[in-house]
Amino acid sequence: MLDVLVIGGGITGVGVAQAAVAAGYSVALWERGALASGTSSHSSKLIHGGLRYLESGQLTLVRRCLHARRQLLQLAPELVKAVPFYIPLYQDSQRGLLTLSAGLSLYGLLSQGDPLGKFTRVNLASSEQHHLLQQQGLRHMLQYWDAQTDDKALTMAVAASAQQLGAEIQQYRQVTDIYHGARVCQVRYRDSDGTLGERRVKMIINATGPWASELLANVTPKQMPAAMTWVQGSHLLLDIESPVGIYYLESRLDERVFFVMPWKNKTLIGTTEVALATMPDKPQITCEEYDYLLDNYHHYFTQYSRAELASLVIGNFCGVRALPAQAGSAFSRARETLFVQQANSPRLVSVYGGKLTEFMPIAQDVLAMIRAQLGERHAIADINTRAIVPVADDYFAADNAQPHMAL
Ligand SMILES: Cc1cc2nc3c(=O)[nH]c(=O)nc-3n(C[C@H](O)[C@H](O)[C@H](O)COP(=O)(O)OP(=O)(O)OC[C@H]3O[C@@H](n4cnc5c(N)ncnc54)[C@H](O)[C@@H]3O)c2cc1C
Repeated sequence: MLDVLVIGGGITGVGVAQAAVAAGYSVALWERGALASGTSSHSSKLIHGGLRYLESGQLTLVRRCLHARRQLLQLAPELVKAVPFYIPLYQDSQRGLLTLSAGLSLYGLLSQGDPLGKFTRVNLASSEQHHLLQQQGLRHMLQYWDAQTDDKALTMAVAASAQQLGAEIQQYRQVTDIYHGARVCQVRYRDSDGTLGERRVKMIINATGPWASELLANVTPKQMPAAMTWVQGSHLLLDIESPVGIYYLESRLDERVFFVMPWKNKTLIGTTEVALATMPDKPQITCEEYDYLLDNYHHYFTQYSRAELASLVIGNFCGVRALPAQAGSAFSRARETLFVQQANSPRLVSVYGGKLTEFMPIAQDVLAMIRAQLGERHAIADINTRAIVPVADDYFAADNAQPHMAL
């Protein structure tokens, strides 16, 4: 009987599959669409500690993510690249020079000696690089470091690593029902060609991201889902040459931060934060989000009129995150990961939230829960030193659908 079934092929699921198979468990991962077709290809694509999370006091999360950033820069140098971030400060900015310098000093400290922890003040008088940025009222600019990735490519690379270690990766397979007992779980599925099937497994990891509660509605005996809310975030891709780095900008319409980023030689702007009452199958950008992003971009980059800007939009995408239900704006709410494992069903673990950046530490947390249930196994690889290498877009097409020989 299979040891671990991971449901969901986003970054969380593939990270857990990689960690579990490397630790010696037999593992399968089932994804109802293509790998990374959910939130994990619709993020801001940052591998970062999250400077803005310092404002809401999430120091543990920031430290953990900065550690993960360092690890990913080493393990996946072709997929994760350091990028300079620029914070322009205007005479009417909400955040002042002192506050931001203090925040960046703390960010450096939390990166624990990482050379990327340094920040500098840009000499605006001698810098030509930022001439497209609104100059009126510009007082200072700070530059610090974080990293950027291709979220879909990273997810596929980790899935390929799991598969090369022996995990079975199955796309276009949707889990429809779960029956869980103290030692054995039975899982029913439907493939995209209509085939129905079932399988007995020892442990299930529900890594369906924002759909985690939806899956729990099909579990017997019933499990209480965690109290979560859904927050949608959208991005626009503009047919404008890439900026020199990532601009960290204050929205003029509220106090949020948004980014203007290089993406495949174009300019990517995002994100928004819109609370959703229910979780859609395919999240879509709204007209309000579209205007919010273009209005904010136009405030800082005035070389095109607002009407011209609209004609330069060549793409958009939208993702949803699950956040613990709490008071306060989505912007200031905790980004910590939540693991739900009930006493009457210890072999079914649901993972809520979590950031793309911290998929490796999240996988280690889940692995500890797997070990507690199934006992220790003989590890076959050390993922803390195993390179994460990009794979071709069609890597998981037909021929690669079955597990490779364990390396
Ligand atoms: C707008 C936005 C921007 C973000 N930016 C960043 C960022 O810059 N940096 C960062 O670190 N984090 C970022 N995050 C957070 C990060 O992107 C997500 O937390 C992460 O991608 C979630 O991954 P996941 O695997 O948990 O979920 P998903 O990627 O959504 O994967 C869940 C998968 O489960 C599958 N599934 C659902 N139901 C079933 C079923 N019944 N059977 C089989 N499969 C099923 C879905 O098809 C989906 O592919 C951002 C989040 C959002 C919303």
